Amino acid sequence: MSNMLIVEDAKTKEKIRCHLRGRFKLQGLKPIVGDIVEYVRVQDAGVVESVLKRKNELLKPRVANIDQVVCVYTIKKPEVSLLILDKLLVLIEEARLNVLLILNKIDLLTEEDKEKKDHFIKTYSKIYPLLCTSTKTGEGLEKLKEYFKDRLSVFAGLSGVGKSSLLNSICPGINLRTQEISERTKRGKHTTTAAELIHLPFGGHVVDTPGFSLIDISHVDPDNLKFYFPEFVENGNCLFKDCTHISEPGCRIKQMVEEGKISTSRYESYVTMYKEVSK
Ligand code: GDP
Repeated sequence: MSNMLIVEDAKTKEKIRCHLRGRFKLQGLKPIVGDIVEYVRVQDAGVVESVLKRKNELLKPRVANIDQVVCVYTIKKPEVSLLILDKLLVLIEEARLNVLLILNKIDLLTEEDKEKKDHFIKTYSKIYPLLCTSTKTGEGLEKLKEYFKDRLSVFAGLSGVGKSSLLNSICPGINLRTQEISERTKRGKHTTTAAELIHLPFGGHVVDTPGFSLIDISHVDPDNLKFYFPEFVENGNCLFKDCTHISEPGCRIKQMVEEGKISTSRYESYVTMYKEVSK
């Protein structure tokens, strides 16, 4: 087990090579990227004494204490279906992480796409903080910076939607902070590099590897799925506690869909996913 890591001092932002105290080995507990640790300085290196309680933890990439998942979506190039987006949002909700939703590449949208764009904004701005951005025209990027400031963010979204471009736009000449884990075994020296945190010059960090890259909901318990649609939970005091909101008569959620208070496309995504995970 490796016992070296780089710690960024919370006050000075200095990066210090630290050892782990032996007891971490005994307890099997090891700091991961994003952990807040207590350390003591020993000349120009340091020793990590303890890891503070994590507020959350993502498994892929392995990162702790995430403040928000910046979920990037595009209507064009690539055209991503709302079902895919809703699955991604379910996975983020399941991990109990906050979402910032980005509609990127708005420079590409023409009159023809207006309906889709309006539907998207109307539907999702009720549920999540939402920004429209373009890395080509710069629209929305100043706002985006404010969201990143002093937070630990991880990107999510399909390949090609513009995650790297957004990061480059808000942070030209990004400075990588690495957490290297080196290990000595009989077979020689191996170096494994875990996820990296990119330090933002205006405050905050971004994880270099996007999360939720496998949009697979097959493990989700059908009975829990409804809890991952925040608008169902908020509006939802459906009279029937065990209601699946699929075909029960008198279901409040279905009624709200009919009244236009819950988006039809979100509800359709829910039904499709419910059937998928119930098989
Ligand atoms: P990633 O896979 O999500 O990291 O996507 P990239 O950042 O690599 O972007 C994929 C492609 O989309 C690149 O060719 C970018 O130049 C382009 N792109 C990114 N953002 C925008 C945007 O706001 N508008 C337009 N028109 N193209 C964009």
